[in-house]
Amino acid sequence: MNIKERLNRIWATLPEGVSLVAVSKFHPAERIEEAYRAGQRIFGESRPQEMAAKHAVLPADIEWTMIGHLQTNKVKMIAPFVAMISSVDSDRLVEEIEKQAAKNERTIDILLEVHVAQEETKSGWDIDTLRAYIASGAFNNMAHVRVRGVMTIATNTDDEATIRRDFQTIRDIFEELKPSFGECFDTLSIGMSDDYPIALEYGSTMVRIGTAIFGAREY
Ligand SMILES: *Cc1c(COP(=O)(O)O)cnc(C)c1O
Repeated sequence: MNIKERLNRIWATLPEGVSLVAVSKFHPAERIEEAYRAGQRIFGESRPQEMAAKHAVLPADIEWTMIGHLQTNKVKMIAPFVAMISSVDSDRLVEEIEKQAAKNERTIDILLEVHVAQEETKSGWDIDTLRAYIASGAFNNMAHVRVRGVMTIATNTDDEATIRRDFQTIRDIFEELKPSFGECFDTLSIGMSDDYPIALEYGSTMVRIGTAIFGAREY
């Protein structure tokens, strides 16, 4: 199957209102162009340099989404064009995005990445730290950051019960935090190539799929 056929198959499984981030990290611009020609517009990258380089050579109406851990000193590299940063996991990062977005006279959509997986290695906010940060009112003064929702990566396991527990946990957190942000807080980003059908059962509104579209990555 080529990229277009794979995309068609995935699109057909997504309920209305669920967006697809085509995770193109480590794949060359030509592969992204192939997906673009098939109609895909949202692409996910994990490294700011790679995203900026691809942005420079690919169509301007692509919505670039940062999905990987982002160092604060790299925010300025993508702030002029990035549509969404879905891996926001610290107060320092939030504040740097606000600053760089203001400098570029833009508003940047963000997702709060929350740690729910049963692994120490996974990035994301500890939920209590995030609750305290929200309660401090920090977001009230941010005119250039729009908090759209939450994101997580489920535990890397074949055990479906564990994955379901992670998705239920993040779903509950999504519902809990929603009143703090209001209408624009509409995005629950869960589900990757191997687990997105399960994520849809838990109300995912944004799946992030790489391998099932582009094949295996060569690191
Ligand atoms: C790489 C990555 C994905 C895509 O993973 P696949 O298994 O290739 O679909 C999704 N989300 C995040 C945060 C990633 O880093």
